[in-house]
Amino acid sequence: MATSTSALLVIVAAVLVALPVSAGHRDVKHPAAAPYRNPWSSFQNLSGCQVGQERKGLSKLKEYLCQFGYLPKQTSPSSSSRFNNVFDAQLEEAIKTYQCNFNLEVTGELDECTIDKMMVPRCRNADIINGTSAMGHSAAAVVHGRNLFTLFQPSGPWPPSKRSFKYAINATSTSIDRATLSNVLASAFARWSVATTLSFTEIATASDADITIGFYSGDHGDGEPFNGPTLAHAFAPPDGRLHFDAAEVWVAGSDVTTASSPAAVDLESVAVHEIGHLLGLGHTSVEGAIMYPSIPFRTRNVVLSADDVNGIQSLYGANPNFKGAAP
Ligand code: ZN
Ligand code: ZN
Repeated sequence: MATSTSALLVIVAAVLVALPVSAGHRDVKHPAAAPYRNPWSSFQNLSGCQVGQERKGLSKLKEYLCQFGYLPKQTSPSSSSRFNNVFDAQLEEAIKTYQCNFNLEVTGELDECTIDKMMVPRCRNADIINGTSAMGHSAAAVVHGRNLFTLFQPSGPWPPSKRSFKYAINATSTSIDRATLSNVLASAFARWSVATTLSFTEIATASDADITIGFYSGDHGDGEPFNGPTLAHAFAPPDGRLHFDAAEVWVAGSDVTTASSPAAVDLESVAVHEIGHLLGLGHTSVEGAIMYPSIPFRTRNVVLSADDVNGIQSLYGANPNFKGAAP
């Protein structure tokens, strides 16, 4: 009896030791399965900061706004902290433009609504490119019924001779299985092909493809590092590269709205958006449109809006069989 009790204790002890190890392995595989902390949540400390004030963390906010085109890039690469912590007039103007693009009250102040919007996961592509495009708000006035889609300057669309595209999945550092990945991407491409006469075919060899798709982490060598919930980015025609942020908790082939992770991101939703960039569209300020720059966690949005359809058809013409955009 004593022996069997000892044996039982040994087994129980072994299980207790083993459990944290296996849980630790799961965390390594899915880093965001641990309690999620949005790296952009530090912007909340800046709420209410006024012009002329100096506040720690403003430099990070300026980096954020610079990354998305709202502040010019700094030209002194030697300095490690390129932006200072002063709330200057330039920052106020940048915040006003941001608020305009995201349909917020244009105050130039770091109010709660503005900061909440800045924390939403978003595309890594800039909203303003070369200072020329401002998500349909160039006249700083919104006219109801006006198209707000923008074109991905400066390259324009693919040439008229190019209507059939081959794409390859060339980097798969993701836990999503290959068949699911293929299905989800095929579905995302189909969202655009039904509205136009463009066609998309997956092929195996990246060197023969017009479009290449992969998952990358952090600074991955193209000058646009992933940092925070920057979900993906894509290059304008005729480049054809689409990069997903490998650090996100991607959900593919199942319902993202019931995903266990609070930081789950729907792969197809982001893929549809990025394909819009690959085809030549920029960001729009129509909330709910596919080409709107941000999407909250655990949200699915895969159906082209009227704004998206108007945008893509302005570049490539309409598919006569298309039944129209979602209301
Ligand atoms: Zn985008
Ligand atoms: Zn990239």
